[in-house]
Amino acid sequence: MNQALLSILLIISSIFLSNLAIYAIKRKEVPGAFAFFILLMAMTLHSLGYTFELLSDTVEKMYFWIRIEYIGVAFYPFLIMLFAREYTDEKKLANRYVLSLMITVNIATLVFVNTNSYHLLYYTSAKVESSLGFNVLKLEKGIWYCVQVTALCISNMYGIVVFVMKSKKSKGDYRKRSFFMLLGLTIQMVVFIVYILGLGPRYIDLLPFSYIFMGLLIGVGLFRYDILFLTPITHEMVFNAIDEAVLVVDRKGMLISFNRASKQFFPSLENIRSGESIRSIRELIEYDFDLNRDSYEIDDRTYNFKVIEMKNNRGRLYVVNDITESEQAKKQLEILATTDTLTGIYNRRYFMDKIERDATAGVFVIIDIDNFKDINDRFGHVEGDKVLSYFGDEFKNFFKEYMVCRYGGEEFAMFIKNGNLNEAFRKSEVFRKKIAYSEHDLRFTFSAGMAEYTTGEISNAIIEADKKLYEAKEKGRNQIRY
Ligand code: GH3
Ligand code: MG
Ligand code: MG
Repeated sequence: MNQALLSILLIISSIFLSNLAIYAIKRKEVPGAFAFFILLMAMTLHSLGYTFELLSDTVEKMYFWIRIEYIGVAFYPFLIMLFAREYTDEKKLANRYVLSLMITVNIATLVFVNTNSYHLLYYTSAKVESSLGFNVLKLEKGIWYCVQVTALCISNMYGIVVFVMKSKKSKGDYRKRSFFMLLGLTIQMVVFIVYILGLGPRYIDLLPFSYIFMGLLIGVGLFRYDILFLTPITHEMVFNAIDEAVLVVDRKGMLISFNRASKQFFPSLENIRSGESIRSIRELIEYDFDLNRDSYEIDDRTYNFKVIEMKNNRGRLYVVNDITESEQAKKQLEILATTDTLTGIYNRRYFMDKIERDATAGVFVIIDIDNFKDINDRFGHVEGDKVLSYFGDEFKNFFKEYMVCRYGGEEFAMFIKNGNLNEAFRKSEVFRKKIAYSEHDLRFTFSAGMAEYTTGEISNAIIEADKKLYEAKEKGRNQIRY
């Protein structure tokens, strides 16, 4: 073991770490980057301090450099935890209390290292050891040293656990990134355990030599794929929070990635990995990816497909929406807005809109059930409703080719497009008789008035028809007048 070689290694490591720290602080927008920056600064200080410690020859000088080193070293547990927490956005385990406890232990460590000669809590003894051919400090560990080591182990384990969880949840590049972080922390942990158990070279602190690997691995993980400062975690969160299924495919139709909603829409995706063809999604076997139709039905559900082409023909994005409910609601609303609930025929508003919009010549017929109040009075409202419903059916079926509606209460209306009064009267008379002699339990009749519409305001024809209806009632009901 050569003192000069170790020092050179440590100085190279310090230069690398401080450069990485500058890189990290420039990109502090990336979650975790700021904590990583402080961690790198602490490591730089540790490496530099250790260089000078190795180059010193008396206990006093060496211990002076240890104090400098500990300005960084003391805070490793806190900083590693902070970094892992910020990067993965895990705030349940590493909550405010745990972090406060961690930093308190770390501050105490710094204080105890600086005041060690009074209480020997951190090191019970410090002697110069020269068996390596150069002077190193031989330190016996005290109680608080164990506390600090425990804190560091907890923090490192925490980092490893959250990165394992993260990498399990992630795919592709994101998984790689978490893997790099994990490797960085694990290397440090392994080196640390080797050092603590005394398995490595005696009296040499291996930790500073592991920093270069840890820094490099975490740096790669943190910054390599991060082009838009959009962190992988936010990216993934957004990707998975969308209700639409999003499927990303390359130009050959191979799946690059898909979000959580995709699996809900197309369960066979559970067993499909990135790199397989989009055509292997069983539920989409009949979907024509070449035509890219915008709607597709599977098992009574309707899906809307939006296809977004990527630039330079690199691939495309399928954004799929389940529109079953909204389509049904739309149909339902349409029915509600246009039809009468009791009879199921058009309502007055729709009927009037339609004939006003069409504005073609024809005959307007208004029908009113005779003595309907009596029916209600004698048999009750429910029976009255049944009569209205029965009449609605008969009316609609008899005048299939014409536009009919429930005009209001026990009144109905019809518009006979291009019809003339004589023809309209003849047909209506047949219907009147059919109703008057119908098999319905409650015998009932109706009266009607009709008027021709040619041009101008349709309301004039309605007023005229109304007048005729009134005449029919006057003349004894159960008749049609024009
Ligand atoms: P007329 O021969 O002069 O037309 O006599 P009428 O009893 O049919 O006329 P009137 O306008 O006095 O009564 C209409 C009745 O229709 C009054 C109202 O309670 C009843 N009615 C209106 N809408 C409904 C309904 O949706 N269901 C039931 N059961 N009755 C209704
Ligand atoms: Mg009436
Ligand atoms: Mg009536």
